[in-house]
Amino acid sequence: MTHPASAARPPFLYVGGDPALDLVNTVDWTSRGPEDERIQTYEQATRWAEGAGTLGAAAGRRLRLLAAERPRAAASPLEYLYRTRATLHDLLGAIARGEAPGDALPRFNRLLADVMGRLEVAPRVSGQGHTGFGWRWRGEGSDLRALVWPVVWSAASLLESEEVGSVRICGGDDCGWMYVDRSRNGLRRWCQMRTCGTREKTRRRRESA
Ligand SMILES: [Zn+2]
Repeated sequence: MTHPASAARPPFLYVGGDPALDLVNTVDWTSRGPEDERIQTYEQATRWAEGAGTLGAAAGRRLRLLAAERPRAAASPLEYLYRTRATLHDLLGAIARGEAPGDALPRFNRLLADVMGRLEVAPRVSGQGHTGFGWRWRGEGSDLRALVWPVVWSAASLLESEEVGSVRICGGDDCGWMYVDRSRNGLRRWCQMRTCGTREKTRRRRESA
């Protein structure tokens, strides 16, 4: 059975191989600037984060309820998400092009410092009672910005991993989506073959005709 909410759910695509890149890929980075915004409301932001695997269903429900109670307060977390996305785009884009990150790196580090300040260790409780400790985000159920924090953390993990050398920008015109190239030959050129790859092939066929 299909959940009624899923019918209205925007079709997010997760082709980046990392939540940080999937967030970058929620808008098209065209020569005219960002276009075709996929995250237009706070509700959509929670759906995106759930699909990215960075927000649990229960936490997502809690945040949506909170945002519905305080509609005006939901605008600022959305700005926070856009600002984070722009920083990730600038930083990871520079790295993918083999350029120096410039001020994108200190901008990212300021975000990271803020996010790290929310991380805490809490007792993990199971059916048998207390079973050790685990990471937890302080305010994950009460701060509307919480859905962005795990994405920043994921970006930091990607940046310090060897895979940062495999971050690529799609070769499609006016796409600008990014992905970790995990193809066996390391020659993946498109965010998706069926969109950008196909468009490029059509264009070349037209040019050679
Ligand atoms: Zn593309």
